[in-house]
Amino acid sequence: MKGFAMLGINKVGWIEKDYQKAGSYDAIVRPLAVSPCTSDIHTVFEGAIGDRHDMILGHEAVGVVVEVGSEVKEFKPGDRVVVPAITPDWRSLEVQAGFHQHSNGMLAGWKFSNFKDGVFAEYFHVNDADMNLALLPDEISLESAVMITDMMTTGFHGAENAEIQMGSSVAVIGIGAVGLMSIAGAKLNGAGRIIGVGSRPVCVEAAKFYGANDIVNYRDGDIVKQIMDLTKGKGVDRVIMAGGGIETLAQAVEMVKPGGVVSNVNYHGTGDILPVPRLAWGCGMAHKKIVGGLCPGGRLRMEMLIDMVKYNRVDLSKLVTHVFDGFENIEQALLLMKDKPKDLIKPVVIIER
Ligand code: NDP
Ligand code: ZN
Repeated sequence: MKGFAMLGINKVGWIEKDYQKAGSYDAIVRPLAVSPCTSDIHTVFEGAIGDRHDMILGHEAVGVVVEVGSEVKEFKPGDRVVVPAITPDWRSLEVQAGFHQHSNGMLAGWKFSNFKDGVFAEYFHVNDADMNLALLPDEISLESAVMITDMMTTGFHGAENAEIQMGSSVAVIGIGAVGLMSIAGAKLNGAGRIIGVGSRPVCVEAAKFYGANDIVNYRDGDIVKQIMDLTKGKGVDRVIMAGGGIETLAQAVEMVKPGGVVSNVNYHGTGDILPVPRLAWGCGMAHKKIVGGLCPGGRLRMEMLIDMVKYNRVDLSKLVTHVFDGFENIEQALLLMKDKPKDLIKPVVIIER
């Protein structure tokens, strides 16, 4: 089969490869729609998790099941499915500890386009299909469904980990698709004032749509100062980090109030150390909590998010600014994600309707 792969750091291209055979609990899926992720960009062009050779990229897909193993009970060939970016090994101690994202090793629930061939292929393999797939309802478009697999679960996780209370003020640093979903998640969790940080007009408009009351442009100067000015020197209760470089952690710690939470979902692709400012962290005694998380995956998470889309709690269509028809456009879509033109939030490649 054909797949679009990372050939090495900074190198991508089309390759021919056999797909991994389905074990008794697994499935083989043919993609109907896929989307490139900013994480693919960190992985390939920054070498953020080290070198990879001929590894097929992509971890955001909806598809149709073409084959299932003998022990798969809930899915059959022909089923249209939402495939989470994170497909854990559900029989692992980390799952028992409550962190499926790290099943059998840190970040190891993230398999596609991390250490296993991803979804930018004619077929791909899904481990533990009963636990990792979810049926796609007819009411949800392919474009929106593919946004559930990663953008929605990640952005919402940023809001979940921020422990937002009714009325909490929340700053969201980065308003790409992930940050936009953090804004939507913060609003659904009862946030009071929401401040988004970004610059691209298309993202600013979407941030307001999803619930941002104010926008701070990091290109206009220090975002800590801007947010302090907006909050009359008080800062915010919660910060969600969904973009920017390693300097944003220090900024988040500066702008969050004592007792507040800094919740990171950004993939920090460069730099060895993420510095925390000593004084702003109360010399270590400010009760400012810092947490970072990989998005939840698996079937239950997908089914719950699918319901939120199906029952109109959130409209994902605003995330998709570019739609391509045809498998061969995966390359163009990935490069668009690298270049981030002004009018882009997310591209989706439709392979088959
Ligand atoms: P985008 O590149 O689309 O968005 C990044 C945002 O950060 C943009 O709004 C951008 O502004 C803003 N930004 C850039 N530089 C700064 C800065 N110096 N200060 C403040 N804001 C800045 O990314 P995505 O939304 O697609 O993804 C966000 C991150 O989440 C990525 O690192 C991605 O890899 C990661 N991710 C993490 C996952 C997880 O499980 N934790 C899963 C999926 C993705 P501008 O408007 O100027 O572009
Ligand atoms: Zn991703």
